Amino acid sequence: MATADLLTASKHFTLERLADGVYAAIENTGFGAFSNAGFVDLGDRTLVFDSFQTPQAAQDLRAAAEQLTGKPVSILVNSHRHGDHVRGNQVFRDAVILSTELTRELIGQDRARVAQQRDGIHGYHASLPAKVEAAQTEEERRALEMQLSQIGEICETIDTLELTLPTVTFSEQLVIHGTKRRAELFCFGGGHSPSDTFLYLPEEKIVFFADLLFTSGHLAVWEDAREWHRILTRVQEEFAMDVLVPGHGSVGTREDLAKNLRYLEVFLQTIEEGKARGLSEDELQKLPIPEELAGLAYPNNWASSLRVQAVK
Ligand SMILES: [Zn+2]
Repeated sequence: MATADLLTASKHFTLERLADGVYAAIENTGFGAFSNAGFVDLGDRTLVFDSFQTPQAAQDLRAAAEQLTGKPVSILVNSHRHGDHVRGNQVFRDAVILSTELTRELIGQDRARVAQQRDGIHGYHASLPAKVEAAQTEEERRALEMQLSQIGEICETIDTLELTLPTVTFSEQLVIHGTKRRAELFCFGGGHSPSDTFLYLPEEKIVFFADLLFTSGHLAVWEDAREWHRILTRVQEEFAMDVLVPGHGSVGTREDLAKNLRYLEVFLQTIEEGKARGLSEDELQKLPIPEELAGLAYPNNWASSLRVQAVK
């Protein structure tokens, strides 16, 4: 947004002021955020939307939120189960942590994964400098250096990471009535993940979508592209909105929502055409990126999304 103020409060993210008391925290790639978050001054209290991948990034987010709103954070929202949105939760242990019932259950299931990662990640981190040295191309070297930095951030706090569960749950909708503004949470089901919540500020026409919206690169379908398309279509039809904050990428507009819908259509159509040609599940999972989506960032998401959707 050309008119918004850009503030840098942390190496992990860049703050973007969207309205009085409403900020997006856009991830700085290569550090401890791994995704976007945000915070909202409700008047009598402050709400934070998502808590990043690492406690140290979450700590900076909390500090920025309290500094800029002048109030303690008393509500944290977890949009969905993925680690890059919830692993900073422990920093907000004294706040009410909100999510859907399903998301809470799924975060709990990831405890085993954290324990597993704790066992393996330090060794992996130690192996990376040699790989950077041995890189064959400049592109490969840059990718490995980025990985080294990101894995280093995870290593910094993995030993003290406590996957902290939401404390209050809802199923489809929750309205928080602040003295200054209202904040509405909606979950229309799951498309990116099994349960995807977004935050709507009706007066400001701002939506924090988390991973229901990507404004850069390939989408990551971890659940069901058809459902994702249904959810975004409903949001497009029913919500007045001007500013759309994605889970990954820079702050966007309604046009980005339309682009995501188109992406999902092309993705689903590619699979349908493959099925019509009689391709096996294995062959469907190897379908190449179609012309229309060529050149987008994060091409690895295409293959991982195919693995999920081809077996639907
Ligand atoms: Zn996600």
